[in-house]
Amino acid sequence: MLNPQTTDIQFNGSVGAVAISLGLPALLTVFGIVLNSQSPFKSGIPFPFDWSFDRIANAAFDKNTWIAYTTYFFGFVVLDQLVPGKYIKGVVLRDKTQLTYKINGLNFILVIVTVLLARLYALGSLPELEFIYEHQLELTLTCCLFSFALAVFVYIYSFFPLKTPNGLGTNDRILAEPGNSGRVVYDWFIGRELNPRIGSWDIKLFCELKPGLVLWLLINVSCLYSQYLQHGTISDSMLLINFLQGFYIFDGILNEEGLLTMMDVVTDGFGNMLAFGDLALVPWAYSLQARYLSLNYIDLGWPYCAATVAIAALGYYVFHSANQQKSDFKQGKLAHLKSMKTVTGSNLLVDGWWKLSQHINYLGDWLIGLSWCLATGFNTPLTYFYAVYFASLLVHRQVRDDEKCASKYKQSWDEYKARVPYKIIPYLY
Ligand code: NDP
Repeated sequence: MLNPQTTDIQFNGSVGAVAISLGLPALLTVFGIVLNSQSPFKSGIPFPFDWSFDRIANAAFDKNTWIAYTTYFFGFVVLDQLVPGKYIKGVVLRDKTQLTYKINGLNFILVIVTVLLARLYALGSLPELEFIYEHQLELTLTCCLFSFALAVFVYIYSFFPLKTPNGLGTNDRILAEPGNSGRVVYDWFIGRELNPRIGSWDIKLFCELKPGLVLWLLINVSCLYSQYLQHGTISDSMLLINFLQGFYIFDGILNEEGLLTMMDVVTDGFGNMLAFGDLALVPWAYSLQARYLSLNYIDLGWPYCAATVAIAALGYYVFHSANQQKSDFKQGKLAHLKSMKTVTGSNLLVDGWWKLSQHINYLGDWLIGLSWCLATGFNTPLTYFYAVYFASLLVHRQVRDDEKCASKYKQSWDEYKARVPYKIIPYLY
């Protein structure tokens, strides 16, 4: 059967889906109000927090922000089609076909950076950065509503049969295994179709990488720019967060190809969970540190900055070398490392990084995130949101992966867990 019905319901079903779909935007709104209390581009006079319904409703439906954001998003869609890249095949799908993906992230970001630098040179300023800084709450809410709408669109779209390549008949779309429960709200949230595409535009891969990550980068730079306008100098903490997160964003874009084998692309459908995560949560929650630092001038001193960079470097080392080791192993290299045969005939690595824990790569990823929080010093718990949120995301992901592997590797998975007992943190968890 091409599209089996989903029986494993996550997040407490529709109730959880609604709670997350309302709760996280509410949290981003709180961040937007708290961190948008003064602006150097306007009068420079701080204005108090305004929690009123009118303020939020006006921000959510601000016409200029909607024009700006939709121009940005659809402009990126067009650019994505135009920017050249290499074509590679994704994993083999349930119907034994493979999709072809254009990998052009690096070229894409180079075009964006070049255009921005050219505009800065020509205009002497970047009005788009001022707009972003001035409209944080408006843009936050626009991104939330836009991602909801996109999820509605792809949900409805998933019911239309797919034209066959010769255009004469139709095929069923491949639905995501977790998103075919028949419950409307739940499937809308989890994502019903595995790989929604319009022509050659792959909506999921595009959203995973481009609009959200680039907006996050622009928000951070807008904070740096605003601090410079306010103080005439830039604090070391602001430079540090821009460096650490800028590096992470470029690193993510450079590793675009790696996305094609990740759970988000291989297993998950594209629904509100991913649309909201990619388009709203990433830019507006991951930029908390820079937004906080734009309102609080903090110099940390070079020893503290160096220690924070060292934690990030350790995180990258663990993250990359562990992922590389698994990928090399899967390609038949590293025969000298110990592995165990499974009932499926394939092998699991039980040596090197992968004897330390079942997901040692998650620990590296978390350390990178921790370094971002440390870049704000120890003045507020607000900027440590990411470390807490990301830890819960990784634990949830580990549970899902454990279920996936238990069903794939059967008794071999229990044997594997007996040999590699720790889930993420060696000797601790
Ligand atoms: P993993 O990279 O840990 O991959 C898990 C899969 O690898 C398993 O399903 C199994 O798949 C295979 N596998 C597991 N153990 C072994 C082993 N010992 N030997 C061989 N193969 C094994 O998880 P993810 O795909 O979730 O994450 C990939 C990366 O993405 C991680 O580094 C993570 O930190 C990062 N990430 C980042 C997020 C973010 O928001 N920044 C969110 C989530 C993840 P198979 O069926 O092929 O055997």
